[in-house]
Amino acid sequence: MSNHYDALGVSRDATAEEIKKAYRKLARKLHPDVNDAADAQDRFKAVTHAYEVLSDPQKRRIYDTTGNENGNDAGGGGGGFGGEGFAFQDIFETFFGGAGGGGGGGRGPASRMRRGQDALISVRVDLREAVFGVNKKLEIDTAITCPTCEGSCCRQGTAPTTCDICHGSGQIQRPMRSILGNVMTLATCNSCQGFGTMIVDPCNECMGEGRIRDRRTLTIKVPAGVGTGTRIQLANQGEAGPAGGPSGDLYVEMKVNNDPSFVREGDDLHATLSVPMTAAALGTELNFETFDGEQPISIKPGTQAGEVINLRSLGVTHLRGFGRGDLKVHIHVETPTKPDAEQEALLKQLAALRGETFTEGKLVSSGGMFAKLRDKFGNN
Ligand SMILES: [Zn+2]
Ligand SMILES: [Zn+2]
Repeated sequence: MSNHYDALGVSRDATAEEIKKAYRKLARKLHPDVNDAADAQDRFKAVTHAYEVLSDPQKRRIYDTTGNENGNDAGGGGGGFGGEGFAFQDIFETFFGGAGGGGGGGRGPASRMRRGQDALISVRVDLREAVFGVNKKLEIDTAITCPTCEGSCCRQGTAPTTCDICHGSGQIQRPMRSILGNVMTLATCNSCQGFGTMIVDPCNECMGEGRIRDRRTLTIKVPAGVGTGTRIQLANQGEAGPAGGPSGDLYVEMKVNNDPSFVREGDDLHATLSVPMTAAALGTELNFETFDGEQPISIKPGTQAGEVINLRSLGVTHLRGFGRGDLKVHIHVETPTKPDAEQEALLKQLAALRGETFTEGKLVSSGGMFAKLRDKFGNN
């Protein structure tokens, strides 16, 4: 067994505070919930075990004087405070814990420190912001590590004390009847909830949980191209874990507001441009307002209603990859609704010139155009 002081990376005359700090730093790094390395669990166990011994003044004295944590007479009559519990635990782990990775018991005391949960919030952005990306200020409400006790859960100057019932192992032996006779089983210690220690004097601010709720402001970078339902993951910005445990992740779910002028379809944008009937017939040049400023649009003579003018790469930025979608401008031809007498006369003149014949207001012939017109109306 390696030296407990080396395991924690502290000197032999380290103060209780230094030992606690060193342990918390290592435990955060090595905790199996956050560290995937193959040896993380074993190292975490070793470090936790070293801390259990060195954080308890009596155990530390025994360890310092005898070089092992049980004293020279483990199980014997002399001064076996926590020693017996640990000896039992070591034996138990030798038989059950080593191969099976500690499934089902014999794992030693549970750590109060756990990883916090992930958090999810939703954020609204305008379509323009989705097209180009934007920095958004968010107010979030999550648990943070208690600033008063820094996650130790204890009132300043105090430390957890070893549980009297389980002597720090977090487990108690219970005789159980079975077909093989009476066997001893291990159960979580109710007195300390399996932590092996008790917090006698909890921190006032967090009530001994090691974390408090806090509202904070966070500026996030919303990348160009997000859509409703896109989730942005921010590592370690979620809920802080109990007892100084690492934070979970924060997920920000995007909701894109509808825009009065543009409709999004994938990464393409669609817009409608109304042009007067005469302009559609004669052709014209005009400027069209887009997210990228005014763009010149050429209406060719004879433009039909429903024609689509494609403005390349003026759509939404692709979230993955490069480039942008297109902006598709749908032409709407405005027919005069209330022509005055002079306009009506001119329109009739135009109709006559085009060979369009009316009988009692009904179009009966249009010089070859009639069939096409009927098709068009039939389709609608
Ligand atoms: Zn606290
Ligand atoms: Zn206990």
